[in-house]
Amino acid sequence: MAKIDEKFWYRKIGRDIYHQTETSKRLHREQNKRQYDKVKLDVFIHYGGNPPKCACCGESGLRFLTIDHINNDGGKHRKLGLTGARLYRWLIKNNFPKEFQILCYNCNCGRARNGGICPHKKGLNNSTNIVLQEAAKELLNI
Ligand SMILES: [Zn+2]
Ligand SMILES: [Zn+2]
Repeated sequence: MAKIDEKFWYRKIGRDIYHQTETSKRLHREQNKRQYDKVKLDVFIHYGGNPPKCACCGESGLRFLTIDHINNDGGKHRKLGLTGARLYRWLIKNNFPKEFQILCYNCNCGRARNGGICPHKKGLNNSTNIVLQEAAKELLNI
């Protein structure tokens, strides 16, 4: 009977266990991600309709969309650690509070940089408009 090559078997078993844990880790990650996507979609459909759309420009690519705090008090929730999945779960648990809406990242940033109003909506607000006009004049040497 051939001598069992212990080293070979230890290596093989080690490798199998390694692959098993890697696979289960990957499955776990995928499961988490699916759960996260589902929770996110529930929240986005509630606030943005089905399929969810940006409340300002109508962008409907889910990856472009984000939860926006209508009163611009997002900092309060961020301080509580409520971002991403935690925010979505918090919204569901709190019966979808009204002070949220769905915006795309463009409109979200536009709003943040334009004193709370997306440039799509009311044109640039006056002070921003003047600053931009001045900057444009300088650039164009008018
Ligand atoms: Zn938008
Ligand atoms: Zn907009």
